[in-house]
Amino acid sequence: MLRMMCITAHPDDEAGGFGGSLRLYRDRGVETSVICLTPGQAASHRGGAKTDQELAALRRKEFAASCEILQVGRGIVLDYPDGQLHRLDLYKVVYELTLCIREYRPHILLTFASEGGVTGHMDHSMASVFATLAYHWAGRNNRYPDQLKDGLTPHRVQKLYYGTANFTLPDRPAISLSPATTIIEIGEYLDIKIQAFRAHASQAPLFQLFERHVARRGRQELFHLAATMDPSMMIQETDLFVGVKDE
Ligand SMILES: [Zn+2]
Repeated sequence: MLRMMCITAHPDDEAGGFGGSLRLYRDRGVETSVICLTPGQAASHRGGAKTDQELAALRRKEFAASCEILQVGRGIVLDYPDGQLHRLDLYKVVYELTLCIREYRPHILLTFASEGGVTGHMDHSMASVFATLAYHWAGRNNRYPDQLKDGLTPHRVQKLYYGTANFTLPDRPAISLSPATTIIEIGEYLDIKIQAFRAHASQAPLFQLFERHVARRGRQELFHLAATMDPSMMIQETDLFVGVKDE
């Protein structure tokens, strides 16, 4: 069984950034997992929550509902502080993500690129940094060797992809996007992606904006192949799993 892991920063990123591909590959028989670093407790849109704790609890439920629509096999919201990922101890966060990779053993890993996606959100940038290091270190026996007990072994993920786009937003921080190497035609899954985003009801004021962005992307999700186990020249892909060995 092929496995795919997606590392994000906030509940709703899984739907907004990766929803079409998550559900498309699930329907092709791929096992999927999403690790979301924060429960999104610093969001400007608070869905009536009075405290950060209330908002976190609400957004965890919305995340679960979105994962159900996307049929994510294993959706996990960690407890890092929203808006503060750049202040954390990098070595500790990467420790946790490396452990997640060694346990789940995905064939491919998806995350944001270091610019932080089209919104340029700093948490997305940090998710990229943490996930990229975890990608590289999970396969090495000299990184976090204390994890390598009770049968847990290093795991090399075959490919690392960053989500990307072919447009930027005028009213957001200036960003420079990674070139698209991989175009996934999500077709009918666009509607499911929108439905999953709408499961994040506390973020309802963003729905219109989101649907405008989605319309610009059309029925495609774009990715940048950032690293691969088999050294190769860059090629244009239409499938995230091309060349991946099921082992
Ligand atoms: Zn986000």
